[in-house]
Amino acid sequence: MNFQKRDEIPARSFAEKLDLLAEVAVKVGLGLKEGQELVMTAPLEALPLVRRITEHAYKAGGSLVTALLSDEESTLMRFEHGQAETFDKASGWLFEGMANAFKSGAARLAIVGENPALLSKQDPDKVARANRARSKAYQPALELIAGFDINWTIASFATPSWAKAVFPDDPEEIAVARLWHGIFAASRIDAFDPIAGWAEHNRNLKQRSDYLNSKSYAALRFTGPGTDLTVGLADDHVWAGGATTAKNGITCNPNIPSEEVFTTPHKDRVDGRVTSTKPLSYQGTMIEEISVTFEGGRIVDAQARTGLEVLKKVLETDEGARRLGEVALVPHSSPISASGLLFYNTLFDENAASHIALGQAYAKCVKDGGSMTPQQLAAKGANRSLIHIDWMIGSGAIDVDGIRADGGAEALMRKGEWAY
Ligand code: ZN
Ligand code: ZN
Repeated sequence: MNFQKRDEIPARSFAEKLDLLAEVAVKVGLGLKEGQELVMTAPLEALPLVRRITEHAYKAGGSLVTALLSDEESTLMRFEHGQAETFDKASGWLFEGMANAFKSGAARLAIVGENPALLSKQDPDKVARANRARSKAYQPALELIAGFDINWTIASFATPSWAKAVFPDDPEEIAVARLWHGIFAASRIDAFDPIAGWAEHNRNLKQRSDYLNSKSYAALRFTGPGTDLTVGLADDHVWAGGATTAKNGITCNPNIPSEEVFTTPHKDRVDGRVTSTKPLSYQGTMIEEISVTFEGGRIVDAQARTGLEVLKKVLETDEGARRLGEVALVPHSSPISASGLLFYNTLFDENAASHIALGQAYAKCVKDGGSMTPQQLAAKGANRSLIHIDWMIGSGAIDVDGIRADGGAEALMRKGEWAY
């Protein structure tokens, strides 16, 4: 007989929670298959989680786990002491190796926890060149990830530098503890049975995306303070959210946490003005109060209160960088939004608000897109770019309508909440 009530959540130590996060990352996030290789990247500070994940991966039958650790202090040294002419270099050999691992069946796990302001004091030109070189070198691997050739996931670790950015007024130890509290809650680790909780959450997200798929809207219209934006949707677009089955047949949850349902906009059919509702932390630079105007899918004017120079460089990356590759709906009452925290990390902040992404579209968000050539995808309206940058346009003051092919509008969200 079991006297423990179903809804009674056991008190857990930090070590137990960290272990549960690792278990969720391997079982829910990756769905790692027996005999499968795993390539993991993480900041040096995340070693305790890397080890928990490594153990769970081998217990799940993983054949070989390779962890690549990075160090922010060393990254800064490049900007402070590296030769100016070398900033167009990237470790192409490493990314080629990763792409090769994915082609031979390896899964991919990224642990994020970077200091969002790491590069904010560095020369924007060097930052842009380094980012561009890295994006370009990473492209062959990123295409296999974005195209879901493989199962992959992203989880997070509360590093001191990230925690201090989120809680600047707290001593480091308190800041780290508070950030962990936020991570565990958002990642649904606090549930009675986190694995079962994720299964239920995935069912709910699937209901939302099934409904939107049944509607096949021509466009979405966002209205609110500083925003009147019509986002045309790609022909044969598909809404997705939560669990995804990759082309290798493995079902994974690419983001932990995840609260969004998302699809592919039409790269030539976005018009109007939109204002960001949260700051964007882009590779070490804070870009705040972004306001852009679209015409025929293309950004024709961009403003920002901070980080405008970096934003403008981003938009110059390639032709697709000025166009949208994703539109996502997240209710304002999502647990991450309800926490009231700004994480300065896309993995969290994009799940606190409806958002759009500049750049590369997800082929899986177009019907049969996984087996199409880039030209066929483009003909459907799917955008192509070296970048994919999400930024938040939702809040408790934003309404969203689904626009039917006949021009009629149906309420999807009112004041940031689902309206159907
Ligand atoms: Zn998204
Ligand atoms: Zn995105």
